[in-house]
Amino acid sequence: MTTCLITGLTRILVLTYILGASLGQSFPDPSSYPATELSTNIGEAEPRDGGADLEFRYHDHDQLTRYLRAISAKYPALTALYSIGKSVQGRDLWVMVVSASPYEHMIGKPDVKYVANIHGNEAVGRELLLHLIQHLVTSYDTDSYIKWLLDNTRIHLMPSMNPDGFSISKEGQCDTIHGRHNARRYDLNRNFPDYFKANTKQPQPETEAVKEWISKIQFVVSGSLHGGALVASYPFDNTPSASPLNAVFQSYAHTPSIAPDDDVFRHLSLVYSRNHAKMARGVSCKSGSPRFENGITNGAAWYPLTGGMQDYNYLWHGCMEITLEISCCKYPPAHELPKYWQDNKESLIKFLAEAHRGAHGFVMDENGNPVERAAVRVRGRDVAYHTTKYGEFWRILLPGNYRLEVSADGYLPQEVEFIVVDRHPTLLNVTLHSAKGYVAGRTTTRKPSRVVPINLDRAAPTVQTTASATSTTSGQIHFPQD
Ligand SMILES: [Zn+2]
Repeated sequence: MTTCLITGLTRILVLTYILGASLGQSFPDPSSYPATELSTNIGEAEPRDGGADLEFRYHDHDQLTRYLRAISAKYPALTALYSIGKSVQGRDLWVMVVSASPYEHMIGKPDVKYVANIHGNEAVGRELLLHLIQHLVTSYDTDSYIKWLLDNTRIHLMPSMNPDGFSISKEGQCDTIHGRHNARRYDLNRNFPDYFKANTKQPQPETEAVKEWISKIQFVVSGSLHGGALVASYPFDNTPSASPLNAVFQSYAHTPSIAPDDDVFRHLSLVYSRNHAKMARGVSCKSGSPRFENGITNGAAWYPLTGGMQDYNYLWHGCMEITLEISCCKYPPAHELPKYWQDNKESLIKFLAEAHRGAHGFVMDENGNPVERAAVRVRGRDVAYHTTKYGEFWRILLPGNYRLEVSADGYLPQEVEFIVVDRHPTLLNVTLHSAKGYVAGRTTTRKPSRVVPINLDRAAPTVQTTASATSTTSGQIHFPQD
């Protein structure tokens, strides 16, 4: 990446900050959204168990709403239901949190998400997220891995970002675009601000709701569930502007657009594809459609697009989102749903656990107060992440030696060397010192970092790394089969 990217990003982020958007500033509990009452309103004709049973069939918006309400009523300690806004036609954009702390962010522990059905006629992900909810809440007491995941992660699941499109889609239609768009005929996965090219599409209510949502909660990883192919696709989806002549051909080019965290995105995509029953085989869906080596692809290498959600998540909010194409048929017959659930179940769970890989910690001032909006960069990766109001940051990284560069207005910049190992997160506390009193020209002086080990999970063993005095690993990650 060029320095242009970092300058441009800084400009975007500073501009957005000035405009008053609350980028990662707050972690609202779900009740700050117009959430539902937690009563079920289930009628006489509803199935037993107050509607919290889940069959393998498609659920329309009302049925989906009833199911989510029933689950939140039955599992109040593990779930919270909230709506981030409404579709063009007034349908709620539901999000279910599944976590041991459903209503409050757990300081130092990651929030993660899945968004399904952004294309209304790509229906499998919508149902799989309902089954994921069911699986998580019913396994908490019996499955130690699920218990660990929910005790240490807040999982936000949006079964449908495009309920209006789904409402006109037809079961059994594999390849049409009927129902793909929202009610105003906009493709929501072309409707986000774009770093590489101006996006002139009118922002839609569904997109605006998602932008607001991800500005309020620092999501660490995310998956966007689609259908019509079988592949995990990772940023960037778009490419830098070409010359006018080249631009004509650019949409047909199959040139990768490499993100600063390409290694991590490839890894995350492989976690999904290799835990999937078939994806990693890379078999093409039908003759003439592409086959993807190991079941993964760079987005732009497949085909470039402007205004996609995954590039936006990464570049605006430091959330590592990938796009998961999970069914060759966009809206397969309902009797095939059990197979899709079995094929994707492990992948859906293991991918979210990747939020616990790499380095994370807190940026504090000399008095131990959190520094919000500090820029956190890993040297050699030309993208800045920012701390939350609690001073938290997360940086998913593969094993290796790294240098963290931390800066914030009014403070001297700070650098920390650290090491990442495979099975334990590296915990970093970085103290920033006030720039007041430092003579101009001396402010580049860097004091050694004070890195304090923190133990996020008292039940987990603390393990010291030997390669760096400035990093500590703690809180065992559970990647039982990797
Ligand atoms: Zn799609």
